[in-house]
Amino acid sequence: MIKYEDIRKQVISTGLKMINSNMTAGTWGNISAKIEGEDLMAITPSGVDYEKITPDGIVIMDFSGNIIDGKMKPSIEFPMHALVYKNRKDAKAVVHTHSVFASAFAVARKPIPVCCEELAEVAGGSIGVGKYCLPGTKELGEEVIKALDDKMAVLIANHGVLACGPTLKEAFKIAEIVEKSAKEIILANILGGAFELKEDDVKTLRNFYLNSYGQR
Ligand SMILES: [Zn+2]
Repeated sequence: MIKYEDIRKQVISTGLKMINSNMTAGTWGNISAKIEGEDLMAITPSGVDYEKITPDGIVIMDFSGNIIDGKMKPSIEFPMHALVYKNRKDAKAVVHTHSVFASAFAVARKPIPVCCEELAEVAGGSIGVGKYCLPGTKELGEEVIKALDDKMAVLIANHGVLACGPTLKEAFKIAEIVEKSAKEIILANILGGAFELKEDDVKTLRNFYLNSYGQR
């Protein structure tokens, strides 16, 4: 049995879910999960087909970039993942996709307005976008944190989407809702324009999702 096997397997299955749902093409995008009770994360390796990643291919690293366990080179985006965990105590998982419609907003460097109820519920509001920075840089990570604010997702200029959440399942769901919202807004604009939700309603929807939604 290898160390942190369970969390490594969860990262792999989330990667497979991402690639099988066309949320990212090829080996792009990356996924990580924080290791409970430790300042460590399990992150996907750089440039390996998601179908070919084995548990020992998932890299365990600390938030300063030191590899604790794993033979492979980690995703070059590890500084961005580490900064999310350092700055957001509510984030236990990060899913970074290159999904098409959300990336269209990222390429246009325009935030995704909060027009869909689910976006208000799961992400807490509109999805911001920061300044352009080259991938893998510390500057990119800092820009991502700034634009993320207190939301659960952010656009990365000319690049893609980052979603974070309390679990891998939730972070992946948020990335899916961001993509769905981006698509709906682009389509609504063809129909004459999307209406943005009011701030009070966004707050009510978010509170309902956090405190009352589903079976409790
Ligand atoms: Zn990327």
